[in-house]
Amino acid sequence: MTVDFQPKEQCLKDKVIMVTGAGDGIGREAALTYAKLGATVILVGRTTEKLEEVYDEIEAFNGPQPAIIPINFLHMSAEQAQQIAETIDQEFGRLDGLLNNASQLGDLSPIEAYNIETWQNVMQVNVNATFLLTRFLIPVIRKADSGSIIFTSSGVGNKGRAYWGAYSVSKFATEGLAQVLADELENTSIRVNIINPGATRTKMRAAAFPAENPGDLKTADALMPLYTYLMAEDSKSVTNQRFDG
Ligand code: NDP
Repeated sequence: MTVDFQPKEQCLKDKVIMVTGAGDGIGREAALTYAKLGATVILVGRTTEKLEEVYDEIEAFNGPQPAIIPINFLHMSAEQAQQIAETIDQEFGRLDGLLNNASQLGDLSPIEAYNIETWQNVMQVNVNATFLLTRFLIPVIRKADSGSIIFTSSGVGNKGRAYWGAYSVSKFATEGLAQVLADELENTSIRVNIINPGATRTKMRAAAFPAENPGDLKTADALMPLYTYLMAEDSKSVTNQRFDG
């Protein structure tokens, strides 16, 4: 599914939105976009300096003061995820949006030769940590008038492709998690949707396709109408859908 959406000025005003992997690529662009449209963004990621740069950019355009949560998903425990959810609850009293975006590519390698540790790391970051964070945040998202959870998949998230290994499998799991959750939350105030961004000019894409000319690819800002639509009230009744960027 695709969407043609023109966000209205300040359409995310007063919303509190968490973006994981907010320091780079698509997550960075989404965090800046949400803040420009009035949202208070909670910047989650593993590299503090990158999150601080996004924070400074938001301050520079007088966006609502963001929050930073530096955490490496590779080592995220249930206790840490619970602690994050409690902190959000105490600080903001609710969470309106959660963009599950942080991911690792791992290796491009045949299954037969796939590095075991890399496999486990990719599944930990892309699936387990995302599950933990989402699981503990659901009660905080319930406190919003209308909550939105977005999961980020890929072109290899519903059709396997040779050599995409753990990344592809982790995206199948991501889509499964999103569908199960969307079904459980049907007829509640929380909607759950999937975005497959499609080829986008980021570091991850360059690592996956080193021979490609990045200039031929769309930039992350081209995705922002879709990313905004799913956080804005306009998509309030839209759930359990998969969108292509
Ligand atoms: P990038 O590699 O540019 O950004 C990924 C982000 O995730 C970074 O901010 C990174 O932090 C963060 N991250 C990675 N590992 C961890 C970790 N262990 N703990 C916490 N944060 C972590 O990728 P994209 O922007 O391209 O990808 C964004 C999403 O879109 C991903 O889910 C990806 O799978 C998906 N996607 C992207 C496509 C594309 O063409 N770009 C196509 C299809 C899907 P840091 O910067 O500190 O490393």
